[in-house]
Amino acid sequence: MRILGIEGTAWAASAAVYDSESDDVFIETDAYQPESGGIDPSEAAEHMRDAIPRVIDAALAEAADRAADHEPIVDAVAFSRGPGLGPCLRIVGTAARSLAMTLDVPLVGVNHMVAHLEIGRHQSGFDSPVCLNASGANAHVLGFHDGRYRVLGETMDTGVGNSLDKFTRHVGWSHPGGPKVEDAAKDGEYTDLPYVVKGMDFSFSGIMSAAKQAYDRGVPVEDVCYSLQETIFAMLTEVAERALSLTGSDELVLGGGVAQNERLREMLDAMCEQRGADFFAPEPRFLRDNAGMIAVLGATMYEAGDTIEIEDSRIDSDFRPDQVPVTWREGESV
Ligand code: ATP
Repeated sequence: MRILGIEGTAWAASAAVYDSESDDVFIETDAYQPESGGIDPSEAAEHMRDAIPRVIDAALAEAADRAADHEPIVDAVAFSRGPGLGPCLRIVGTAARSLAMTLDVPLVGVNHMVAHLEIGRHQSGFDSPVCLNASGANAHVLGFHDGRYRVLGETMDTGVGNSLDKFTRHVGWSHPGGPKVEDAAKDGEYTDLPYVVKGMDFSFSGIMSAAKQAYDRGVPVEDVCYSLQETIFAMLTEVAERALSLTGSDELVLGGGVAQNERLREMLDAMCEQRGADFFAPEPRFLRDNAGMIAVLGATMYEAGDTIEIEDSRIDSDFRPDQVPVTWREGESV
C-alpha cells in the first residue's frame, strides 16, 4: 500500500509517500523562511500556494515509479487538518480534496499533533508510551486512555519552540531560533531564570520575559541560551517523568521540532534510564514538520477504515489531539 501525505500547517510545504510494504518514506519539503521576524501567516500561505504543487508533483512521481503497471499510484491521500495556521491549512485541504477526487481514492484527515507522536510510536515499536510533543506552536504530554490521546500536561501560554524563537528575535537572530539557542548554549553558564511548572502544566512566557531582561542587562547571550535550555527542558523532563509515574508506563517517545535538540534528548534519556524506562526519539526528518508522519499515520488510519467524506473534511486550526477518536488502537491504554 502507498499513501500520499500532505503537510502544511505553518512553515513546511511538504508531501510524502509512505510505502507500507518496505516501511519506506519519501519526503519532499519546501520550507518557508521569513526574511525578517517570525512566521507571518499571509506570507506562509503565499509560500504554501507556490510550493505545495511542486512538492506534490515530486511525491507523485516517486509513487508512480514504485507502482506496478496495474496498480493505482496511491491508495489514499492523507492531509493535516490542523492544528495550524488557517490560511495554510485551507490550501493543503483544497489540494488534498482535489487530488483524492482526481485519483479517485479515499481521503484521510490527520491531526498534526497526533502525527507528531504516532511517528515515534510507529518507529519505536513501543506499545503504549507517554508522548512528549515539543514543537514550535505546542507543548503537550500525552497518554492514551479509553480511545483517545489524553492531554496529561500542556503549555499554559506559548509553544516551546515559539518561545525560543521570540527570545532570538529579541536578540536579532533570524528564524528559526531554536538551533541558534542550541549552538550558543554550548559556551554558556547558568544564570537564574524562573522555573514554572504548575501541576502537570508548564508556562514559558515569564521565562522569556526574564531571558530578554537578562540579555538587556548585559548577561552574555550564551549564558541566557544555556539557562533557557536547562530551565525549559528540565520543566519538560519533570512533567514527562510525572506522567510516566502516574500512568505506570515505562516508555517515552519524543516528537516535534524542538526534539531535534540534543540537550533535551540527553535529559529525557537520562531521566528514563534512572527509572528503568525506554526512551525513543525519531530521526530529525520526522521531528520537524514533515509530510512523512502524515503519510505514516494516514496509512494506519486508512487500514482502520478511518477515512472522511469530502464534505466532512473541513480544516480545524484549533484541532486538539484529545478530540481525535483513536480508531486504530482499540482496547489499549497506559
Ligand atoms: P507545530 O508542530 O506545533 O505546529 P511548528 O509548525 O512551528 O509547530 P515544528 O517543525 O514542530 O513546527 O518545530 C519548529 C520549532 O522547532 C521552531 O520553533 C524551532 O525554533 C524549533 N527548533 C528547531 N530545531 C531546534 C533545536 N535544535 N533546538 C531547539 N529548538 C529547535
